[in-house]
Amino acid sequence: MKINIMTLFPEMFEPIRASMIGRAADNGIIELNIVNIRDYTEDKHCRVDDTPFGGGAGMLMQVQPIVSCYRQNEFAGRTIYMSPRGRKLSQEIAEELAGEGELTILCGHYEGVDERALTELSAEEISIGDYVLTGGELAAMMMIDSIVRLIPGVLGGEKSAEIESFSDGETLEFPQYTRP
Ligand code: SAM
Repeated sequence: MKINIMTLFPEMFEPIRASMIGRAADNGIIELNIVNIRDYTEDKHCRVDDTPFGGGAGMLMQVQPIVSCYRQNEFAGRTIYMSPRGRKLSQEIAEELAGEGELTILCGHYEGVDERALTELSAEEISIGDYVLTGGELAAMMMIDSIVRLIPGVLGGEKSAEIESFSDGETLEFPQYTRP
């Protein structure tokens, strides 16, 4: 699976290069393609944000750098904008996304993203819960982790994912023990 990540803070993704996801990337099971949206701005001061038209607090990520980033990299597949107003991430959604060949993830910042960028990218919105984070990067990492571990070959024993909590609706795993 090819996972494209559009962010203003690529360095925040270092942690997912470790452990299981890092190994999946090393083994060619997934390809992580992390791009800095700021590299695509046409603003001479490298700005990527602007005030909301019509008022309102804070700043919004502008359309141009996001759409240029998406187009110039020829990103494809389902595009997901990490957003508190999106569909709540669940095991069912992770299973659904684990079957995709390519995913493009947009991480928001500031007060969010100019709606026209989301329309242009036909972005779906996914939330990781009813609370507000500073940016979409942590949310994206959580979603990516929940997806990648379901891809065949990542966990090793495929049964591990089949008999876990939420793999069968709302069932939770039973308490387990190592030797006394
Ligand atoms: N003004 C927005 C609102 O009230 O819904 C919040 C913007 S938040 C400070 C900045 C970015 O963090 C969002 O654009 C989104 O990408 C990300 N984000 C924040 N909370 C999130 C959540 N619960 N799930 C997914 N992404 C989230």
